[in-house]
Amino acid sequence: MDMSDYYNEDDKMEMDVTEEEEVLQEQGDASDTSKAGKSDNDEYEDVCFICRRPESKTGKMFKLPNNICVCDDCMHKTMDTVSQFDYQGMLNNPNLQGDWDQFSRQNGFPNISFVNLADLQGDGGIPNKQKLKKKKKKEAAEPVLDIKNIPAPHKIKASLDEYVVGQEHAKKVISVAVYNHYKRVATKTMDEIEIEKSNMLMIGPTGSGKTYLVKTLARLLDVPLAIADATSLTEAGYIGDDIESVVSKLLAAADNDVEKAERGIIFIDEIDKIAKKKNTTSRDVSGESVQQGMLKLLEGAEVEVPVGANSKNAMVPLATVNTRNILFICGGAFPDLEDIIKERLSKSASIGFNSELKDKYSKDKNILSKVTVEDIRKFGMIPEFIGRLPVIYTLEGLTKEMMVKILKEPKNAILKQYQKLLELDEVKLEFTDDALEAIADKAMERDTGARALRSIIEEFMLDIMYEIPKDDNIGRVTITREYIEGTGGPIIDIRSNQIAGAIEDLQQVSAEDEV
Ligand code: ADP
Repeated sequence: MDMSDYYNEDDKMEMDVTEEEEVLQEQGDASDTSKAGKSDNDEYEDVCFICRRPESKTGKMFKLPNNICVCDDCMHKTMDTVSQFDYQGMLNNPNLQGDWDQFSRQNGFPNISFVNLADLQGDGGIPNKQKLKKKKKKEAAEPVLDIKNIPAPHKIKASLDEYVVGQEHAKKVISVAVYNHYKRVATKTMDEIEIEKSNMLMIGPTGSGKTYLVKTLARLLDVPLAIADATSLTEAGYIGDDIESVVSKLLAAADNDVEKAERGIIFIDEIDKIAKKKNTTSRDVSGESVQQGMLKLLEGAEVEVPVGANSKNAMVPLATVNTRNILFICGGAFPDLEDIIKERLSKSASIGFNSELKDKYSKDKNILSKVTVEDIRKFGMIPEFIGRLPVIYTLEGLTKEMMVKILKEPKNAILKQYQKLLELDEVKLEFTDDALEAIADKAMERDTGARALRSIIEEFMLDIMYEIPKDDNIGRVTITREYIEGTGGPIIDIRSNQIAGAIEDLQQVSAEDEV
C-alpha cells in the first residue's frame, strides 16, 4: 500500500467540506514530493529492518507497508520463531487481557519483542534514514592486458616496466608465471594434462616492491586482488582470522561475483611469520598449523566462504568458491634467511681447496638470490607448503640509483604526482638532480626501502604546499639539495608575464607623474 493512501484515508474522516480545497492542494504537494522522493530513492538501497544489512548483501527483500523491508534470512528466522511459539499456552493463559505488550513483559516471551508500528511513522513515513546510499558503479575500464587472450610474457613485462623500477629477474619470472597461469585458465587444458598451478613465493627485503608488483599486475590484468597478512591468520577455531577468510576477501574484492573471484589473485604478505616455531611444546596455531591449513587452498579446493563478512555465522549467506584457478602469491622478507644461506655456502666452501672463499659470502649483497628450497625449509616452512609454491624468486634490495629512478620514472612516480598537484595552481615544480640524490641518501639511511621516499618528500613538501597557494605570483619552485638538507631554501621564480605586467603598471604611473 502506498503512503499517500494512508494519508488520504486518515485525514478525510475528520475533514469538513470547507477545508476540502485546501487539502486537495496539500495532496497535490504530497504526491509531488513523493515523486521527487521516488527519483531520490533510486540512489538508495533498502536495508533490512532487523539485521541492518543492505539489499546488495542480502538479496531481494520483502517489502512491508511503511517502507519496512525485511531480508529473506530474517523473515525465515522470524517465521521459525513464530512457528515454535506456544500459542496454546498463551491462549489459555488467564493473565492475558488483550494488551499484548504488557502481557509479553509480564510473561517474558523469549525472542519476541513487539514492534510498535506507530513509532515508525515519522514525518511522512520513513525517509532515507532507513536506507543506505548505493555506491555509484564505476565505469569498467578496458584492461591493459586481457586475460582471455593473454599477451606474451615480454609484453606483460613491458607493461610492468612502466611502473616498477629494476627487479628485472622478478618481473621476468612473474610475467612467465602469469602467462602460463592464465593460458591454463583460458584454454581449460587442465583436464588432459594436469598443468601445475604457478603459485609463487616472493622473497625480498621490506619496501622493495613486493606488494607494489602484485598490485600493479592485478591492475593491469583487471583481476580482483586480495591482500592478506599471514600474521593475522590462525588455525580455525582460535582467535584470529580463519585461513579461508582470504578467499572471502577476494570475493569481496570481486564484488561478490564468484566467477570473477575464481580467476583472481590472492597475495599473502609476511608469509615468513608463519614459519614453524622452534623449541615450542604448545600447539603452534599461528605457525605450522596455518601452513597445513593453507595446503588445500593453494592446491585448489571448494571452500564455503561467508559473503559480506569475515566469519561464518547463522545470519550470513555462504558461497562456494573453487580455488583451483586462483593465483596465490606469497611474499615475505625472511629476515634470517641470509644467515642460513651463508652458512650453507660457507660450509661447502670450507671443504677442500676452496676454503679461502669462506667469508666472500658475508659481503655479498644479493645473497638472497642464491636461496634454495632446502634453505626455506630450514627457515621453518614445511615441505608440503613449499612444494605448492613452485615458482620461487627474490627481489633485490634497492640501491640509491634505483631510489632516484623510483622518484621520477614510473608512470605514477611521486614527483609526477606533486607536479600535477601544483600544476593545478599553475605552478611548475622542479627538482635538481642533487636534490633527488639527497632524498635517496636519506631514504637509504632509514632502511625501509622505497617506502621511506614518500615520507621524506611529504615532510618537506608540506611547507611548499602550504605557502605556494598563498601567493599568486609564484610561477616556479625548484627544490635544491640545500633545502632537503635543511641548509637553504627552495628557489622561487615569479611569474614572468606578471613581472611584465608590473613593469607596465610602473611605466604608466611614472608617465602620469610626468604629465
Ligand atoms: P614491500 O616489499 O614491503 O611489500 P611495497 O611493495 O609496499 O614494499 O613498497 C612500498 C612502496 O615503494 C610502493 O608503494 C611503491 O610506491 C614503492 N616501490 C617499491 N619498490 C618499487 C619499485 N621497484 N619500483 C617502483 N616503486 C617501488
